[in-house]
Amino acid sequence: MKKSFLTPGPSELYFTVPDHLKTALQDHVCEISHRSKAFQDIVQHTTEQLRKLLAIPTNFHLVFTSSATEIWERIVQNLSATSTYHLVNGSFSSKFYDFAVQLGRETTIYHVPENQGFEREILAKPSAAELICLTHNETSTGVMTPLTDIALVRATNPRSLVALDMVSSAPYPALDFSQIDTAFFSVQKCFGLPAGLGVWIFNDRCIEKAEQLQKNKQILGTYHTLPSLLQNSKKYETPETPNMLGIYLLGKVAEDMNQRGIQTIRQETDYKAALLYAQLEKSKVFSPAVTEKRFRSQTVVVAAGEAEKIKQFLALCQSHQIIVGAGYGKAKDTQMRIANFPTHSKEVMQKVADLLENF
Ligand SMILES: *Cc1c(COP(=O)(O)O)cnc(C)c1O
Repeated sequence: MKKSFLTPGPSELYFTVPDHLKTALQDHVCEISHRSKAFQDIVQHTTEQLRKLLAIPTNFHLVFTSSATEIWERIVQNLSATSTYHLVNGSFSSKFYDFAVQLGRETTIYHVPENQGFEREILAKPSAAELICLTHNETSTGVMTPLTDIALVRATNPRSLVALDMVSSAPYPALDFSQIDTAFFSVQKCFGLPAGLGVWIFNDRCIEKAEQLQKNKQILGTYHTLPSLLQNSKKYETPETPNMLGIYLLGKVAEDMNQRGIQTIRQETDYKAALLYAQLEKSKVFSPAVTEKRFRSQTVVVAAGEAEKIKQFLALCQSHQIIVGAGYGKAKDTQMRIANFPTHSKEVMQKVADLLENF
């Protein structure tokens, strides 16, 4: 039987990836020059399919980087001179904050305990920082911030730039890009691709900011500054020899997702998440780690329970060829994380729900 990886990244490959890999080899995607017309066409295709899938407006630009970890650093370097503000509710948002500290920014942090979300009053608080950093889906704790709440940050802070980490949710959220200035993701989560590629999306305000910082002699980085990435992207190129196979596969999977329809993907995601949460609420052994319903992630469902029970349940899933993720960090033994990405079928989710019901 096929093994199903319900892990929150790397995760199960999108089901069309094996076929696209074969075609990539036939078409010499890894052998052609990254400055050739053939490769520019691939970059253009991937860019266009992503723009369509995520409904990216024309005043936003899209570039390819190494994974999201790089983009944390690029955002701080290119979009702030002195001050950043971070809304932290788990390990990933905390790392984004750490990067700003390491880069010497005057940082402000608002921290909520694990598995909790931000109250609306907090998001609607004014900040004097140049850059405000948020994580849409905190992969470590299974907390998803509602998009309508994220809009409060923009409404209260029209002068700041707003950065949104969408690594473990894109393309699920129907994000209104006018509520943010920059967003980014890696491809090994919801896109079901091999790791090692990031997508950075930013608007004209970000370009102005980076250009102004450059004029003030701030160092924005070396080869991957926002202006150099942007300039290269206009020719559908990248400053370096990029992850050509990753960019190719991302375009193919984005095209497949467009054909399936983003609305269908969103509805299926909600349906599958509801199956799991319903069982977790009924369970006498486990419970949803996020108690407040409106903060529950639709793409990474986190369950809490006694360490011994979690261990037994992970082993049970494994005996059915289903690999479920362990908890993250401190919660490694007392939580489990079930990825609910577009590649994960209704059937496998139903199977996990049945195993939960009978456990
Ligand atoms: C996985 C993850 C990252 C880091 O992605 P890499 O591909 O490892 O760089 C950042 N933010 C969130 C929310 C993530 O889930």
